[in-house]
Formats: sequence, structure tokens, C-alpha cells
Amino acid sequence: MNSFQSVRDLLHAWQPEIPVYCVYPHVYSDSTRSFLAGFPGRVLYAVKANDEPAVVRLMHQAGITDFDCASLPEVALVSENCPGAKCYFMVPVRLRGAARAAQEQYGVRHFVVDHPKGLELLAGEIDMKKSVVFARMAVHHNSAIYDLSAKFGAEPREIPGLIKAIALLGAEPALAFNVGSSVRSPEAYRHALGVAADVLAELPFRLRLVDIGGGYPRSYPGYVMPPLDDYFDVIREGIRALPLAEGGEILGEPGRALAAPGLSALVEVLLRKDDRLYINDGLYGAFWELRFEGHNRYPVRAYRKGEALNGGEQRSFRLLGPTCDSTDQLPGAVDLPENIDTGDYLEFGHIGAYSLGGRTRFNGHYSDKIVYIDDSHELPPM
Ligand SMILES: *Cc1c(COP(=O)(O)O)cnc(C)c1O
Repeated sequence: MNSFQSVRDLLHAWQPEIPVYCVYPHVYSDSTRSFLAGFPGRVLYAVKANDEPAVVRLMHQAGITDFDCASLPEVALVSENCPGAKCYFMVPVRLRGAARAAQEQYGVRHFVVDHPKGLELLAGEIDMKKSVVFARMAVHHNSAIYDLSAKFGAEPREIPGLIKAIALLGAEPALAFNVGSSVRSPEAYRHALGVAADVLAELPFRLRLVDIGGGYPRSYPGYVMPPLDDYFDVIREGIRALPLAEGGEILGEPGRALAAPGLSALVEVLLRKDDRLYINDGLYGAFWELRFEGHNRYPVRAYRKGEALNGGEQRSFRLLGPTCDSTDQLPGAVDLPENIDTGDYLEFGHIGAYSLGGRTRFNGHYSDKIVYIDDSHELPPM
């Protein structure tokens, strides 16, 4: 992978005609360490938020030792890139044979189920006696942008039965839930931890592990979320009331909060038409997440001939992707220097979560150009 001191250096050396994704190692390192310091439990990085090997390795180097994987290829990726790391196979529906391979080839011991039939399938593939099996509980709260209980999770009243069945099959039972993604209020965690406390109190024995899932948000322009510390405070308070076994532990599965900060997308302006800029990346590329409810743009900065273009009048521009599809338009307008023009470059910051993993080859557009920006004084647009 190429390295540059700065995006300016990159543009002086090379005027890329396809999008370039810039990894800022020190930004990932700082934001990951700060999440680890604040979160009141064990942190599992949810690999699906950004499975670029360079990013996964940076998470590991910054101190993440546990990874939330949802497929065998994700388990393989983490195992190959992060020596000594532990993978948790945290999806209740898997390809046939995937749990067996994860355990036999990669030593995975942690799995999740949300249905008696799913438990039967899992028990047919793994050695239950050396495994921990989480029962995933559905929790609904209106402050999550994406309701992750709309698809997976057993209702709270079904959880005690599922947990007893896991124990009867010889595995250590545990509890898991996911409040949602981009959770707008810490109250969602308070609510879920309250439901969990009630369920745990009903059990004839105490569990050691509770996995409270992902959902910790990041702010984007025009889309400001409470600080992560507000979430950590509510969680710290909520877990105090959980009846857990001796040596009990809380796990969390942040994806977005860890993946978002340290990556930018550098794109070229292919054509300016008045207040419309056609760029070489779009909704079929790294910007795909903007199709969904939530934030509608990323922080941006402009470059001309390798130097930052700023000062002067600002004006609002619409951004359009390179494909022939009329819907390939970014939903949020962005403010840029009024004189921005064809051939200039734009750098979008904070684009590390749910971007690279969803690029398609639609219409023949696809970039796999990923570089490091090494100077620790350089920061992506924020
Ligand atoms: C997607 C997902 C996560 C990560 O969610 P974020 O909102 O990115 O933190 C964690 N756990 C599970 C089971 C998921 O599906």
C-alpha cells in the first residue's frame, strides 16, 4: 500500500482519475484508544463496518483483541491479519458448515442463536462443551435509526427457555442484544439494560457474559449526536443493576464508532454545471450509506493543483455520482468555495464506516486504491 505524508503530497505526485481512499493511522489509533478507555466493558470491533485489512490491523494495533464477525470470511480475515485475536461469530443465521469451520479451523468458541431450531443447527456443528452460546434478545427503542431487532432476536419472554436449552446442551449460556445502529439517545441502552436485568433475574442461575451490541453513534455535518461519554455513563449505571455471576463481564460491539473517523475519500470533480458537481464516486461506491435514513453528507474540503482551496465565497453544491443512474445523487448539498471547478479534488472525511464494504462494480466503476496518510499532523476533514 502506498504512503504519503499528506493528501497535498499525494496530489502533487499523482492526479488519480479514480477515487482514492486515505487511511489516517494516527486518527484510528487515537479514536480507538479513546473508545477503549471510555467503554465500561470488553470491546469487540464489529468487522462489517469496515473490513479493509489495513483498518482491521490498525484496530488490533490500537488494542482491540476481540472481533465481532458475522461470516467465515470475516473470521478468516481477522485471524490472518491479527495474530492472537479472538473472533466471536455473532450472527444467529449462518451458512451451513460455517460454525463448524470457524471452530475447527480458527478455534472460535463464541456463537449466538435466537431460535430453538437455530440452536439445534448450531449444536450439530460445534462442540457445545467448549463453547459459549449467547441467546440474542430483541429490544426495540425508538431512538435507533436502524432497528437491529427487526430481523434478529427472540422476544424477552422466550429468552429464559432458550438459555436453559443452551445450558442443557452443554454450552455456557450468555445473553446478547443489539439496541440498533446510530442510536440517537443513550436512553435506548438504559431501556435495554432494564429489560435484560428483568430477564436475568428470572433465571435459576447467573450468567457470566452479557453482550450489549453496537450502535454507538458518530456525528456528521447536520447530524449531531450526543458524545460517546453520555452513552458510557448510562451503560455503566445500567450494568451495575445486572445480576451477573462472579467474574461477570459486559461486551460491546462497536462498528461505526470505531470505523468512521480515520478514513477519507478523495474524489475528482469530473464536470461542473452551475451548482452541480459530477464526481467520480457516488451511491454505487463508497457513498452508498447515504441512501438510507440518517446523515446525508460527510465533511468535505477542496484541493486545486495539490493545495487546499479555501478562502473566498462559499456556495452550496449538489454532488452527483459517475454512473448513468439518475438516483446516483448524494442527498445532502455541501458548501464549497464558489470557484470550485472541473479537475479540482474533494476530500470527504469521516467516511470509514459502512463505505468500502458496500462498493459495487455497477456501470464499471470501482476503485480499490487505498493509501496511508502518514504525517500525524495531517487530519481528514471533520
Ligand atoms: C452491525 C452490527 C454491529 C455494529 O453496529 P454499529 O451501529 O456500527 O456499532 C454490532 N453488532 C451486530 C450484531 C451488528 O449486526
